[in-house]
Amino acid sequence: MTNKMMIAIDGPASAGKSTVAKILANELGYIYCDTGAMYRALTYEALQQEIDLENEEDLIYLLKNSEISFEPSEKSQRVYVNQEEVTEAIRQPDVTNSVSVVAAHGKVRKELVIRQQKIADEGGVVMDGRDIGTTVLPNAEVKIFLIASVEERAERRYKENRLNGIDTSLEILKKEISDRDYKDSHRESSPLTRAEDAVLLDTTRLDIQQVVSKIKEVVASKSILG
Ligand code: C5P
Repeated sequence: MTNKMMIAIDGPASAGKSTVAKILANELGYIYCDTGAMYRALTYEALQQEIDLENEEDLIYLLKNSEISFEPSEKSQRVYVNQEEVTEAIRQPDVTNSVSVVAAHGKVRKELVIRQQKIADEGGVVMDGRDIGTTVLPNAEVKIFLIASVEERAERRYKENRLNGIDTSLEILKKEISDRDYKDSHRESSPLTRAEDAVLLDTTRLDIQQVVSKIKEVVASKSILG
């Protein structure tokens, strides 16, 4: 029996992080933590309350009064803010296109990183985001950095959106994904970047199960070495 590990999965928008992280957590019996959902939940609340997204102090005040929680469900994880379910609302284009502005604030990041580290303290965890391997869990036993071409990522998001009744063209999605990557990679506070010890995995021509298998190979090699 091996000790439960911390598995960090980072990468740009729509690289398939949450899908594989969820499957992996299920198969390993680990907790799954979607850190993007936390930034999205705060963004959703700020938009609802018409808070200026550039105003860091107002955002922090809102965040301190917002309990963000997750509940496992069969299809996906449910997300709540102060007991209100926001699972679908946080995936809508208005939130997606504003979240990088909210996530650029250093104080917002500091508070959410503390909450994320608390979740990881509870035991085996698969956590996905942008700064997990670099900042949130620098001591994670397994670090994966997922990439895929922007064309492939836009196509995956397009198909997913269609299933969820969101109607945005492929061209617009490509631009939105590129813009979000640019903002996430160029912010001052823990920008999206590959940790030196992260395994780079290009998922462009791989299906979900192939990606999961490759990550499990990394997990197995760490188990043997550990
Ligand atoms: O993973 P997802 O696409 O849902 O993340 C939404 C946004 O949240 C990202 O584009 C990024 O701005 C922010 N984010 C972050 N750090 C994380 C996770 C997400 O800055 N660890």
